[in-house]
Amino acid sequence: MNPAGTHPTGTPAATVLNPDGTRRPLDQYDAPRLTENQGARRFHVMSKPAGSACNLDCSYCFYLSKADLPDGPGSGRMSDETLELFIRQYIEGVTGNQVVFSWQGGEPTLRGLDFFRKVVALEQKHAKPWQKIENDLQTNGTLLNDEWCEFLKANRFLVGISIDGPRDIHDQCRIAKNGGPTFDKVMAAINLLKRHQVPFNTLTCINRYNARRPLDVYRFLRREIGSTYLQFIPIVQHKGFELKSPQSWDPNTLPKDGEPEARPGHPNSVVTDWSVDPEDWGYFLCKIFDEWRNKDAGKVLVNHFETLVAQHMGLPSQICIYGEFCGKGLAIEHDGGVYACDHYVYPEHRVGNIHQGKLSDMAFSREQVKFGFAKHESLPKYCRQCAYLRDCWGECPKNRLIRTADGEPGLNYLCAGFKRFFAHAIPEVERMVAELRKQPLRPQGRLDRGIK
Ligand code: SF4
Ligand code: SF4
Repeated sequence: MNPAGTHPTGTPAATVLNPDGTRRPLDQYDAPRLTENQGARRFHVMSKPAGSACNLDCSYCFYLSKADLPDGPGSGRMSDETLELFIRQYIEGVTGNQVVFSWQGGEPTLRGLDFFRKVVALEQKHAKPWQKIENDLQTNGTLLNDEWCEFLKANRFLVGISIDGPRDIHDQCRIAKNGGPTFDKVMAAINLLKRHQVPFNTLTCINRYNARRPLDVYRFLRREIGSTYLQFIPIVQHKGFELKSPQSWDPNTLPKDGEPEARPGHPNSVVTDWSVDPEDWGYFLCKIFDEWRNKDAGKVLVNHFETLVAQHMGLPSQICIYGEFCGKGLAIEHDGGVYACDHYVYPEHRVGNIHQGKLSDMAFSREQVKFGFAKHESLPKYCRQCAYLRDCWGECPKNRLIRTADGEPGLNYLCAGFKRFFAHAIPEVERMVAELRKQPLRPQGRLDRGIK
């Protein structure tokens, strides 16, 4: 292309105006913005109304440290003005027929019920007539009471309760500020939710300790709590996560796959002590997959399994980590600052502030689209040649903190576990898909919620 913006053939080339008034050629990162009027625009924003504040002190929390991150969001609470601006801009920006508000933290219930009453009133004020507005609340449950549950039920909130397994497992990492246990309080909250018939799912963090007890964890959640939607999140935290954003590491310092530093527990390990071991992660998934397949498939949703089945049916991944691209799940902090993702709340990944710009412009900005494409573009050759590429897509970029055995950076720390799981589960998943294809497809649950 010549500087005048035409191809040598003389055909005018598509160009885009830069903010400084110059023009540059159109590329793939511009497409989502330029096609904004052609079909529904969907994105998801996770909000932090209490910032990173929490009444607990879980060992593996990646969010408490945001209060002290230089040039980060700091500590604080979302003001009424920021709340209304967020709700209005979010509803305006999503042109699809569903807008999902996800309230997270920190601990969002620290804001109290009056804050959430305001949320519901503002949503009703700004809702477009054809849109369904939904609310998710992710909570440790310890502050819930009857009044809360009545509100959650009346306003159709879907509650995610964080619980890591039976008492001895849960109390290992999910501790109060004084170091004390929290299991009884969380169980009391679950009983309250049940009594008030508030729909809830469970979110369980798989760490170095509970990964070795898969059936104790799964059976507790399934048989004792009666959870019918189980989300499992592997804990992977690079040392120094408090200050350094994922992928800003010096690639030469990253251990190679198979080296002891690529596992937790080694003095020079790349991850914190409580991070899940990659082999244990594979073991955990395989064991609970068998239990789910034998006893619960069709009745119970497990985030990793539902998405694997969906992908083998030719449907898109149900969760961002297994998608080819990401970037459609942003985070908004208490001060109105918008970040590329909940796991990228670092100054270099701030895409704007709703007090200075429009949320939907940020969601479809070149910067954000590039962030989403980078998930695919930064895949190492090793992943591109992997038999499980279309199931895994290198999983979440924040976990790509090791090198391949021949030194290529960007391999997922959990790779060994994923390979073990895919090798074990995929033959059975293929059988399930063959059975499902014989029946009419009935989507279940709220799988399109962008839940991570
Ligand atoms: S894959 Fe990871 S980085 Fe991408 S949106 Fe999901 S959690 Fe964020
Ligand atoms: S299983 Fe490992 S090699 Fe294969 S795509 Fe996933 S991270 Fe890459």
